[in-house]
Amino acid sequence: MSSISTSLIRFNTFGLPARCRQLVLARTQAELMAACMQHAVDDVPPLILGGGSNLLLLEDYLGTVIKVETKGITVSEDSEHYRLTVAAGESWHGLVEFCLQQNIAGLENLALIPGTVGAAPIQNIGAYGVEFAAVCDWVEYLDLNTGKLVRLSHDECQFSYRYSVFKGALRGRAVVLQVGIVLTKCWQPNLTYGPLQSLAGQATPQAVFDTVCRVRSEKLPAPEQMGNVGSFFENPVVSAEHFSQLQQRYANIVGYPQPSGEVKLAAGWLIDSLGLKGYSVGGAAVHQQQALVLVNRGNATSSDVLGLARLICQRVKAAFEVELVMEPRVYAARGEWSNVL
Ligand code: FAD
Ligand code: NAP
Repeated sequence: MSSISTSLIRFNTFGLPARCRQLVLARTQAELMAACMQHAVDDVPPLILGGGSNLLLLEDYLGTVIKVETKGITVSEDSEHYRLTVAAGESWHGLVEFCLQQNIAGLENLALIPGTVGAAPIQNIGAYGVEFAAVCDWVEYLDLNTGKLVRLSHDECQFSYRYSVFKGALRGRAVVLQVGIVLTKCWQPNLTYGPLQSLAGQATPQAVFDTVCRVRSEKLPAPEQMGNVGSFFENPVVSAEHFSQLQQRYANIVGYPQPSGEVKLAAGWLIDSLGLKGYSVGGAAVHQQQALVLVNRGNATSSDVLGLARLICQRVKAAFEVELVMEPRVYAARGEWSNVL
């Protein structure tokens, strides 16, 4: 067996210093499929890597990492819709910019989300009131168990908040090869989130894009300057009764009613209210501008990150009776960990 020699520090946006046995850069769909099928039978499953912006590498990876770098965007249209077929390795933000340049609107709320198009369906990326699910037509993947190509319709993807079938029944089994996106020609801006509301009456796709980019750049640390994986925890959803009890103890608590009758809490508010902004364990810290983001101050180890995450979970649980769930995917030496905290 070859040594654990290839550094992944440039390939994960948290900047953790893990290495792997072998790194394969797959630039065509044929290369991607061949590498996946070759390594599907390895003792340690292949780790499929996009931009590395939603994962934590706890240790050196004893298997092969396959980085998806496939490219290609095609556009067709009918009287009502644009339909795009996009290769998994395209940059998500690059796709948003491409659409704006072609006067195709509908992705602008999702500007500046790092990573690849192929990862977008995995956790159903979302921002500023829009989720990938709203524009997804279909997703095509390679099934590592059967070697077959499968195309799932929108409904078959089972999208919900930060979730899809690719995190459920198909976890670890599906390699997304390309996605189909459908965008209506009757564009309506989505201005439900606070920073976009000032655009009411004058919203254009470009104005929404510019505002999202400005607000995100002000608030979120750029991974090239300070390692991070965006939101470290999902926003917890609690019952209306639980929320009402919390309101009696915390008058300013932030909650958003859901169609189910439950209430979504802002996890960042919970962490901030405990005075944890700036709190650190070793080289890992809670970001000063946004408490939902954990950052690498330069030399964080995976133990630092997990230690800080555990402390936050314990403090939040004690104060609010809420279990926080980590958003990034976590990999140890021989594969994914599902329950690390
Ligand atoms: P990776 O981190 O490389 O992979 C994530 C997971 O998906 C891994 O389990 C990996 O194996 C799997 N995967 C990747 N590609 C494929 C594929 N082709 N087929 C099968 N599995 C695959 N997320 C949001 O939802 N909304 C946001 O607003 C947002 N903002 C962010 C801001 C910052 C600064 C950062 C650092 C992250 C943010 N994220 C956000 C998280 C992240 O950008 C998204 O989850 C993104 O979709 C991850 O893409 P990636 O290519 O980097 O995936
Ligand atoms: P924010 O505006 O400070 O809001 C805090 C939280 O409240 C958000 O997480 C958001 O939930 C929720 N929220 C705000 N306004 C809402 C509304 N009108 N209706 C329902 N929920 C509302 O958040 P932020 O940190 O600056 O992020 C802005 C957007 O970018 C959010 O949508 C966030 O999810 C997204 N983002 C995601 C990541 C990631 O890694 N996943 C990283 C950065 C930013 P939701 O998160 O459910 O939208």
